[in-house]
Amino acid sequence: MSSSGFVSIVGAGPGDPELLTIKAAKRLGCADVIVHDRLIGEGILNYCREDAELIDAGKTPGGHRIQQEDINRLLVDKAREGKFVVRLKGGDPFVFGRGAEEALFLASAGVPFEVIPGVSSSLAGPAAALIPVTHRCVARSVTIATGHDRDNSCDKVFDWEALAKASDTLVFLMAVENLERIVSSLISHGRNPKQLSALVRWATTPEQQVIFAPLQEIVHIARSRHITPPAVLVVGDTVEIGMELSRAIAYGETPEEVMHAHVA
Ligand code: SAH
Repeated sequence: MSSSGFVSIVGAGPGDPELLTIKAAKRLGCADVIVHDRLIGEGILNYCREDAELIDAGKTPGGHRIQQEDINRLLVDKAREGKFVVRLKGGDPFVFGRGAEEALFLASAGVPFEVIPGVSSSLAGPAAALIPVTHRCVARSVTIATGHDRDNSCDKVFDWEALAKASDTLVFLMAVENLERIVSSLISHGRNPKQLSALVRWATTPEQQVIFAPLQEIVHIARSRHITPPAVLVVGDTVEIGMELSRAIAYGETPEEVMHAHVA
C-alpha cells in the first residue's frame, strides 16, 4: 500500500474513542502520516504509531486555519512521497466534513484512496442523548441539515420552506452559531413552535450536555446556559422519548434539570 502512496479518508466517530471502527483503528495503526481535524481527541490519536507524523489540519503552527486547498495539496504531496496517509475526520467523513472535496481532489490528481465510514454525530448525537431519530408511528423520516445556511462560496440557496416540512425529525449540525436563525426560520416556515427540540453538546464524551426545550424556547435556554459548539440540534416529537428515557435513568443531568424546560 505505502510504496506508491495511498490516502485513507477515515471517519473518527463522534468523540468517544471506543466508537472508532475497528477498520479506522487498524488504519491509524499503520499510517505514516495522520492529517487530522481539530476536534479529534487525544484518545483516538493514541491509536497512531509512535513514529507517525501528526498534522493538525485545523490550524497552522502560527495558529491560523489551514485553507482547504492546502489540505488537499498536503494529502497529494505526502502520498506522492510514498507515504500511507490517513486523513482523519470527525464523525463520518462524507457528512459535512468536506471529505468528498478531498476525495475528488485525490481522484483528479490520480492518487489512490479509500473512504472508511465513521459513526456520525448526526445520528450518534441524538442517540447518546437517548433521542431516537425515528420511532414507529411517531417519526418515520429524518433529515440532516447544516446550520450554516449561508455559504458565500456556492450559490445553492437554502430552502427553509422545504426544510421546515421535510421530515418528522430534523437534525442540524453546526447549529450553535446560527441557532436563532435556524429556529426562527423553521417556525416562520411552519414548524410547530411548541414541538420539542434538544441540543446535544460534545455527545459521547465526558463533557456531554443535553438541553431539552420546546423549539420556541431552545434559543433562550441555550444562551442562558452558554452552550458553545460542537452541538447538534434535534427537532421532532421523538425528543419527548429522549426526555422520558433521560428521566428514567437521569443520564448526564439531574432529573430536575431534565424536567426544567419541559412544557407538557
Ligand atoms: N463529519 C462530522 C460532522 C462535521 S461538521 C460527523 O459526521 O459527525 C461539525 C459539526 O458536527 C459540529 O459543528 C457539530 O454540530 C457536530 N458534531 C461533531 N461532533 C460532535 C459531538 N461530539 N457532539 C455534538 N455535535 C458534534
